[in-house]
Amino acid sequence: MSTTLELRRLEMPLVRPFRTSKGEETVRQVLVASWTGPDGVTGWAESAADPEPTYFPEYIDGVRSTVEQVLLPLLASASGEPMTTGALRTAFAEVPGNPLARGLLETAVLDAELRRRGMPFVDFLCSTRRPIRVGVSVGIPGDIDTLLSWVAGYLEDGYRRVKLKIQPGWDLEPVHTVREAFGDDLPLQVDANQAYTAADIPLLSRLDGFGLVLIEQPFARHELLAHAKLAARHGTPVCLDESVLSLDDAMTTIRMGAADVINIKPSRVGGYINARQIHDVCLANGVPVFCGGTLETAVGRAANLALATLPGFTLPGDISATSRYYAADIGPSFELDADGCLTAPSGPGIGVEVDLDDVEEFTVESTTLTL
Ligand code: MG
Repeated sequence: MSTTLELRRLEMPLVRPFRTSKGEETVRQVLVASWTGPDGVTGWAESAADPEPTYFPEYIDGVRSTVEQVLLPLLASASGEPMTTGALRTAFAEVPGNPLARGLLETAVLDAELRRRGMPFVDFLCSTRRPIRVGVSVGIPGDIDTLLSWVAGYLEDGYRRVKLKIQPGWDLEPVHTVREAFGDDLPLQVDANQAYTAADIPLLSRLDGFGLVLIEQPFARHELLAHAKLAARHGTPVCLDESVLSLDDAMTTIRMGAADVINIKPSRVGGYINARQIHDVCLANGVPVFCGGTLETAVGRAANLALATLPGFTLPGDISATSRYYAADIGPSFELDADGCLTAPSGPGIGVEVDLDDVEEFTVESTTLTL
């Protein structure tokens, strides 16, 4: 039996439109990879890539093309069967950039490897399985009343930390109103997704009065000096997300004083091994981290929950319950416990049994490649 890689583009309806400063989604298009070794063991991974390069520089067709035309041929000459993560990382060592494509393939191979060894993802990360306190990311609605009803609903669901998406024209008023309505004890933070410029620092400084946990990625991803300038005020802590695509990026932002907090999205940094390394550097430098989210299916959600058990993840992440995004998923449903926590599955690998019928139902395009 040969090794195969199946790439599928799924279209999964969201329970409610998700709008940020970068645009609106009503259906999540997600690229899912399944890697099956010669022993028949299959590993799963999903990409955070969008259909267009509006958020990440990489996008679904680009990731698929990079995997098919660049990465997979490199693995054909890699030693050993079944493929291991170590052999894969050696084969990809000279490939610059493309973290989403590399992370997708690496995670699928890693999941297969761990399932084969009977090792849960948490053990691979040298961590301990435990409930993880999670938060909810609230998109930009049409009006303040809708925002208040959404936040009230999420708090009723059990979320203990709220992140509001902001953009020019939708910042001070919604933050002020939510703070007034739900009190000073609510852990509240904002995410601008690069929507402001350094000229807006006086405006953003006015958010300091609302006791926010942090402000995430106010400026363009390459504007590290502007982020450092904002952070140097020692007002609302500054968190970087889109600026950090690698371990080098993380170290640079820390040395520059551009980030008080880092949002780690495994998909964005090339997979979970890189994510673990960034976590370690942040922990050693006293920089708290949290696990970001990109509307994951059960596959990404399970792996992110395992990552978030590491000790540096001291802030609640964006790993919401399944019902926050989907009425139907391709794997088990994750539900908040009474303390507003989620727990990673205990089985080998990411611990999720993917429902192949559901995968088939959501698939709009698929390719099977042989190594
Ligand atoms: Mg963000």
